Amino acid sequence: MLKRCMLSELSFYDTGKAAFIGLHDDFIGSARLDNLLSCYVGMLSICSVSDEKPMLFIASDHEEVGSESTSGAGGSFLENTLKRMFSDYDEYMQMTRSSLMISADNAHAIHPNFPSKHDKEHSPKINAGVVIKVNANQRYASNSTTISRFMDSAKSINEPLQNFVTRSDMGCGSTIGPITATRLGIDTIDIGLPTLGMHSIRELCGSDDAHSLYKILVAFKN
Ligand SMILES: [Zn+2]
Repeated sequence: MLKRCMLSELSFYDTGKAAFIGLHDDFIGSARLDNLLSCYVGMLSICSVSDEKPMLFIASDHEEVGSESTSGAGGSFLENTLKRMFSDYDEYMQMTRSSLMISADNAHAIHPNFPSKHDKEHSPKINAGVVIKVNANQRYASNSTTISRFMDSAKSINEPLQNFVTRSDMGCGSTIGPITATRLGIDTIDIGLPTLGMHSIRELCGSDDAHSLYKILVAFKN
């Protein structure tokens, strides 16, 4: 007799609602903060800037599985959408060379139980500022020009920043930053909000960090 073989996958979900936690609501505890938190902050920011400031917000699907899809950053959606905005090719090229892409994803905060996983000089802490991510192998797309532009915006409103470089003897994660930078030729910075328990069913971020990113994005000058 043939036995039917059933393949199944077990996924765990946190059924609790997102919440501010901590003595002074210092933290945000929720499922999928990576990367709904940056999406939320980005959406709020673009709703807060004036119409004269040209700004585009894009939230891409499938980042956790490589971004290779029609709705992922490796697809043609963003490029096609931008090209449709400019009937003149030279104007399109001018836009790509004068624009800045801010690729916002979460960053691993140093974990009190596993501090050795971070380089001592590059150990982001929760509620100590937005993290600028750098990787010489271009796993992050940040470069000196884009970093200085981001630092300039943060400095103009006295918001703190932190730096992250992965331990050089360990692999480095990546984001959609290098993918869209390669496709479009737009200078990019990779930044993120420090997170504990990233990719667990309930992650933890800092309330101040999320608010700080919002303020930096809104303060950006053309
Ligand atoms: Zn992730």
